[in-house]
Amino acid sequence: DGALVWFRRDLRADDQAALYHALKAARQVYCAFVFDTAILDPLPRADRRVEFIRGSLAGLDAQLRAMAAAHGIEHGGLIVRHGDAAHELPRLADELHVQAVYANHDDDPAAIERDARVRGRLSNLGIAFHSSKDHVVFERSEVLTATGSPYSVFTPYKNAWLKKLDDFYLGAYPVKRYAGALAERPEGCRSPIPSLEAIGFEKTNLHTLKLPSGPVGADELLEDFLERIDHYDQAREFPSVKGPSYLGPHLRFGTVSIRRLAHEAHRRAAKGSKGAATWLSELVWRDFYHQILHHHPHVVDHAFKPEYDTLKWEHGKHADALFAAWCEGRTGYPLVDAAMHQINQTGYMHNRLRMVVASFLTKDLGLDWRRGEAYFATHLNDYELASNNGGWQWAASTGCDAQPYFRIFNPVAQSEKFDAEGKFIRRYLPQLANLPDKLIHAPWLARPVDLAAADLALGKQYPAPIVDHGEARGKTMERFAAAKQHA
Ligand code: FAD
Repeated sequence: DGALVWFRRDLRADDQAALYHALKAARQVYCAFVFDTAILDPLPRADRRVEFIRGSLAGLDAQLRAMAAAHGIEHGGLIVRHGDAAHELPRLADELHVQAVYANHDDDPAAIERDARVRGRLSNLGIAFHSSKDHVVFERSEVLTATGSPYSVFTPYKNAWLKKLDDFYLGAYPVKRYAGALAERPEGCRSPIPSLEAIGFEKTNLHTLKLPSGPVGADELLEDFLERIDHYDQAREFPSVKGPSYLGPHLRFGTVSIRRLAHEAHRRAAKGSKGAATWLSELVWRDFYHQILHHHPHVVDHAFKPEYDTLKWEHGKHADALFAAWCEGRTGYPLVDAAMHQINQTGYMHNRLRMVVASFLTKDLGLDWRRGEAYFATHLNDYELASNNGGWQWAASTGCDAQPYFRIFNPVAQSEKFDAEGKFIRRYLPQLANLPDKLIHAPWLARPVDLAAADLALGKQYPAPIVDHGEARGKTMERFAAAKQHA
């Protein structure tokens, strides 16, 4: 009567759906994580997310051991393997002689495919595979229109989401109550969590960032954020201000429960906190994009709106050079460049800046949104296929409930509005530090005397703009007009 819980993007032991269901159903519950070479092999050797996961596994292991120890179970804890998960997991389940494997839903297309293979292999071994919702509040077809179709516009989706919400959906799974079913790890399964080096990775600068890992790290960030949540609606707009929660990677890897976060926000919103209501709305966006991906998996490499698959993006050597300048923060537009330095140095980028640089890539440089999406996918610590794809298609105007194509962000106006004093720009572009506030947003407009006073040689320490925004705007309007003819 044994079960195995397979942890994937749910690296915590509290309020964890799969763990709860396994503990309730079986008498001997093992817990495992597989460093999946199918996911890890294509990544760069220094990847903050791998280090974050490794740190989080230590936290999860500690939680599991403590829960087991409270029931007098001596060798509790996490079994960690390294290999192709589609093979390793069924092999481990077989070794442990369990009757069932429990996991939580992962609706990314690659994960669906992997899970189908795992399910097939387990079934050949006579082992059942159960999975549950855990990653979002409402998934798949839980929130539909009155006529039973999925929503593709956010506001009515959000209204329906809020209407459906009640304590049942936000209640925590009482895992601890059933922890007596945790099993001792067999002797051959007690090796420590492998080091980064052992799985072929290098140390990154993660330890210098304010991103503590694991459930304890999530608690720290949450506690800090709850003191600021009432001002979130205002503070979130300005990249130089500590406005958002920075919980993205914790939500991505499930070191904190979405039910707990939504509950905290909902409770405060009900008492009139505008900040909490706005934050809850962001969590709803997260669910929204997950259900879009579920119902419209073509968005992974196609525009949500088919006519926009005909958009003629720039190609060739010049386009490649523009793309490289964008990636490396050499566009000559300070806010864009500072934002790209932020993602390159930390793996984080402020939401406002994600919109600004995505708009710049697609509408100022005329480059395919998929190039930017792929860049974010390798660099963001909180990379989540559904949200990243949704965000990119929103900015590129190809998405479901997207920015209209004729509303094109002016990167200088965005800078003047959201980083008026140039604080954020100065943090990442110290060579511009001496420019006065009003010139820092567009240094090419500064007079030679101002540049000299700021000790700045344009074209040397900092590039001249690689495109003219006005001209680019015209080209973008034409590009979209041509595509619209296919509608
Ligand atoms: P907070 O502002 O504290 O928000 C809390 C949580 O709500 C976030 O962690 C996230 O899970 C969710 N959330 C917030 N905004 C959104 C949104 N617009 N869409 C979906 N979920 C949201 N978010 C990701 O989680 N992963 C991505 O890969 C990602 N890529 C993006 C790409 C582009 C081009 C754009 C415009 C946005 C993207 N976002 C992505 C959404 C948003 O920018 C980040 O979630 C947010 O900046 C993360 O910081 P935070 O945790 O401090 O967020």
